[in-house]
Amino acid sequence: MSSMVDPRSPMETPEPEGRQRLYRVRGIVLRRRDLGEADRIVTLLTAERGKLRLVAKGSRRTSSKLAGHLEPFCATRLLVARTRGLDIISQAEMLESFSHLRERESAIAIAGYLAELVDALVPEDERHEAVYDLLFAAYQLINDGGDERLVSHIGEMGLMRVLGYRPELSRCIVCGRDIEAEINGFSVEGGVVCPNCLVGRPDARPISVNALKMLRLIDRGEIQRLLSLRIPADVATEVGDHLARYITRQAGRDSAARRVVAELRLE
Ligand SMILES: [Zn+2]
Repeated sequence: MSSMVDPRSPMETPEPEGRQRLYRVRGIVLRRRDLGEADRIVTLLTAERGKLRLVAKGSRRTSSKLAGHLEPFCATRLLVARTRGLDIISQAEMLESFSHLRERESAIAIAGYLAELVDALVPEDERHEAVYDLLFAAYQLINDGGDERLVSHIGEMGLMRVLGYRPELSRCIVCGRDIEAEINGFSVEGGVVCPNCLVGRPDARPISVNALKMLRLIDRGEIQRLLSLRIPADVATEVGDHLARYITRQAGRDSAARRVVAELRLE
């Protein structure tokens, strides 16, 4: 075995004792909690480093320069100092405040639900840039006045897709035959089930033609088309029920996600 010697000796790359190393991230604030007298721990989903818990020192003081850039659901650009414990936010600069989102209780509720879902489903220190993009897009849609319940389903389905739990929507997951425009089944084990295979499967429930159409539009990312449609309330409710059961089964194997889906889902 040959051994490699690092050509840079410590003498040539001096690093002053205690110097903090800095890094930059873009993040969306998922939640915050108080720490000590004046600080907060802020949980963010970042584009570069996945979910991070960071300390915002002094951010509960009225004089804080950080606080305004770390409101819930904000997208913000951060300069972060690495420490032995939780890293510390050194600077914060708002990228997008989604200010209209904050004007409606229903919008805040949906934004909060999506934030909790992301928090429950995305592990810490695992990079998920697609989830950041998805959450940013969902908040943008809500901010622009999009139907909030529809946006929440777009967010749910998008999360399933980018986290690797995308349901099959074209072929029966049992026999493989193409799904036709009739009442089929939707199974929490993986997607659509044809009428023949639906019989005697407790994991599947009937799904209407319109609900399956809506799921497919969401899955294909035809967001503008969806937002321009008048979706009957019963179809939206049906889609919501299927998605909630699916998420609980597929991604909700840990208790946090199951709790979020069960308790926070809005009727
Ligand atoms: Zn079948």
